[in-house]
Amino acid sequence: MIVRVSDINENGVHIETFENSEWLVNVPELSKGDRNTKLTSGFDIDLQVNKVLREVAVSGNVQFSIEAPCSRCLQTVKLDLKPEVNLVLTPKESTGEEDDDLNHETYVGDEVDISGYIREQIAMSLPFKVVCTEDCKGLCSSCGINLNNENCECESQRIDPRLAVLKNLKI
Ligand SMILES: [Zn+2]
Ligand SMILES: [Zn+2]
Repeated sequence: MIVRVSDINENGVHIETFENSEWLVNVPELSKGDRNTKLTSGFDIDLQVNKVLREVAVSGNVQFSIEAPCSRCLQTVKLDLKPEVNLVLTPKESTGEEDDDLNHETYVGDEVDISGYIREQIAMSLPFKVVCTEDCKGLCSSCGINLNNENCECESQRIDPRLAVLKNLKI
């Protein structure tokens, strides 16, 4: 996604674009074979680019959907995410030292590729843990049934491990 600095006039440039899911590369959380998080849409990207002197400001958002298992009951949860994009680009020569601020980057020449930054924002917006509902009861640790839908007898049958030792004692 290239922004050409000399094309940005006083009204700025509005970028509205769609990228399919293949566009998102090198996000380990979404890589193939990972059972956890799955992309279920492409990316709707809506950005406003403005220029003040030679500083370029990019703001807007990216919309996409994922599917991930509930961390307690493993049921699939669908999520719509909409990370914000807020980036300021300054020409390389005007800043002497390295800037650690993620939202503040430099560019060289007239063309700026902002894809990497947007991919980063997408990666950071992925939830670390997903739950289907806040009060999800999860799965029974003994028999594995979904305690949101069914009840089991495991809890009442469980033997206190200290008592189990006594049971095996030969007197
Ligand atoms: Zn759940
Ligand atoms: Zn059970």
